Amino acid sequence: MKLIDQSTVPPDAKSRKIKSSHRDRAYGVIRRSILLGHLKRGVRVNERVLAEQLGISRMPVREALLCLHGEGLIRKSKCGLQVTKLTPQETGYQKEFRAIVECAAVRLAGQRITPAEIERLREVIAEQEILETAKDMQAFGESDLLFHQLLLKASRNPFLTRLSGTLGMGLVVGGSEPCKATVEMHAQILDAVAKGDADEAEKQMYKHVIEDSTYSQDTACADEDPE
Ligand SMILES: [Zn+2]
Repeated sequence: MKLIDQSTVPPDAKSRKIKSSHRDRAYGVIRRSILLGHLKRGVRVNERVLAEQLGISRMPVREALLCLHGEGLIRKSKCGLQVTKLTPQETGYQKEFRAIVECAAVRLAGQRITPAEIERLREVIAEQEILETAKDMQAFGESDLLFHQLLLKASRNPFLTRLSGTLGMGLVVGGSEPCKATVEMHAQILDAVAKGDADEAEKQMYKHVIEDSTYSQDTACADEDPE
């Protein structure tokens, strides 16, 4: 298999490539900022300010915001765009959605996960123990999100994985507080998945998603307002 010669790419195609890479970077940075709580729930999103912060033009930022709007992380309001802040009722719906998706994912993961993936997930849990002791909220939230993403990936079902990227699932996962009980629940989920015990994996995941009170939008470490 041979890749195309980059020097033969016409100038307009090259510039399209640069634009899409700017959009992808803007999408990645803004998404991460929302999931990790740097951009507070409910805060207005200013396209110009974001473009300045990222050192790019407004168009790729606008395109990135459109994608995030599609995922439910950004909403339109009377005053313009803002980071989605779920109502308590919506948070309940969100948890139900997560429970359906993630319980299905761990059942499949129990049959399809590889030894390398189990090992990687054990490393993630070990890292969470350290972050919990250090009370490093940002890194813990990131690691928590990674744990759930890796389990979804281990389901080997691309539709499930894609579904998890929509409807703002990360709004709930990314704002978790460092907590020993959360790390223990992760370990119980992984043990069940590693044993291929689908019922137990589903039971533990359901408990984690529905009953773990550390998941709250308001726990996110919001330290700056982009405006
Ligand atoms: Zn978790």
